[in-house]
Amino acid sequence: MGSCIFCDILAGKSPASMVYEDDLCAAFMDIHPITPGHVLVVPRQHCEGLADLPPELGAHLFQTAQKIGLAIARSGLRCQGLNLFLADGKAAGQQVAHVHLHVIPRFERDGFGLKFPPGYDNLPERAELDIISQKIRRRL
Ligand code: 5GP
Ligand code: ZN
Repeated sequence: MGSCIFCDILAGKSPASMVYEDDLCAAFMDIHPITPGHVLVVPRQHCEGLADLPPELGAHLFQTAQKIGLAIARSGLRCQGLNLFLADGKAAGQQVAHVHLHVIPRFERDGFGLKFPPGYDNLPERAELDIISQKIRRRL
């Protein structure tokens, strides 16, 4: 596996501002927050991405992120909404190769947002959606 900054944090070898810990996961403040209150939910088990993340552990990460999101909303931090975000793979923006779920408080004009690709405004035909849905369905 080599060195992993999140494994080091979970082992107590590197510092982090901890929000929540249980047997399966931990949540701590992102060192470079998009907005104040940006938390990362991280499994204790080193999994790189969705392909090697046990589904029940993924469910636990989501439950934890939900709980933390609700706590952020009640915390007095600026939070009119929340994004849960997971980058799986470099092409998707994953920088740390230990799966993690971002919990990001959002508010009007916070400056964060998704950038859409050229051609996004052209809606695909139903036939094209049907072909693509079939490709995915076959692999479930
Ligand atoms: P990714 O792009 O992989 O989805 O997100 C990685 C996140 O980890 C980034 O938001 C980055 O700021 C955060 N991060 C990187 N190194 C550290 C660290 O050493 N400690 C903490 N708390 N967060 C980190
Ligand atoms: Zn790790």
